[in-house]
Amino acid sequence: MEDKPVIVDKTTLGKLLNDIDTVLLDCDGVLWAGARGMDVINRSNEAVQKLKSLGKNVFFVTNNSTRSQENYMEKCRILNFDIEKKNILCAPFILAHYLKKIGFKKKIYVVGAAGLAEEINKVGVDCIGLGPDSLPEEMYKSVADGSIGLDPEVGGVVVGFDRDFNYAKIVKATCYLTNPECIFLATNTDKVYPVLGTPYHLPAAGVVLNTLECSSGRKAQVMGKPALNMFNYLVDEYQIDPKRTLMVGDTIYTDILFGNMCNMQTLLVLSGVSNLKDIEESLRIDPKNVNQIPNYYLNSFGDILNLLD
Ligand code: PLP
Ligand code: CA
Repeated sequence: MEDKPVIVDKTTLGKLLNDIDTVLLDCDGVLWAGARGMDVINRSNEAVQKLKSLGKNVFFVTNNSTRSQENYMEKCRILNFDIEKKNILCAPFILAHYLKKIGFKKKIYVVGAAGLAEEINKVGVDCIGLGPDSLPEEMYKSVADGSIGLDPEVGGVVVGFDRDFNYAKIVKATCYLTNPECIFLATNTDKVYPVLGTPYHLPAAGVVLNTLECSSGRKAQVMGKPALNMFNYLVDEYQIDPKRTLMVGDTIYTDILFGNMCNMQTLLVLSGVSNLKDIEESLRIDPKNVNQIPNYYLNSFGDILNLLD
């Protein structure tokens, strides 16, 4: 790996496209952005189409834990992205696939959004815990006598981004996790997501997860990037060859780390979370963070359209 990423120009892009047949695209910060993620970034939808017209296999790989594959299909239709449902690998889908693989039969306590529960339900597992929650007045007494409403059928706690996250949920998740047989899974560790056009980064699922890891004293098994679950799924289902695969992302500690650990080619776009200074900073913090250095960078994914003209 190079010490520094190389900016993609016409020649580099031509050679790179010759060397790959599969492109994995992170979504937020690469394809779209905004508070609700409904702003297409610089013709990224046309760039997806261009790669497909060149015969590349395109997959969307997103850590966002709030939407199911079906929700994504609807979003892609509105934003003019031409992609098949099976090519959308979102963290909830991968988490549900894992539950199916291990033959999980009990209930899940979800600290997360409806889209996450929807994917889990699709593999035949029931969820509780969605939406707002509160504790009875006499909370401490209620913990002692079990009346906070713990369900004996629950065998797992699943954590994602939860707009209704509150103290009642922390108490319940923590109590379930007291049982060492209760499995503990998380969609992703993203700390923040940016709101395009503003200086603000909003808290993401990592913040919820950190809280529950802190209160339970346990570490969750994480399904999203940089964990290898999405990669293993792509190898099992589509036999992708990492050496002939390009991972495009906007975040060095999830997307780029994931791509490099899987021995893919990696391209950082500067339209989202990380910038070039962040690479230097991460190496300064720990020189071992070389897997966070992308092979290439570009201002935005849509820039490939001009380079291919
Ligand atoms: N988590 C949440 C709650 C988000 O809103 C986002 C992006 O919008 C993400 C994670 C990161 O998603 P991606 O992997 O597509 O960048
Ligand atoms: Ca992203």
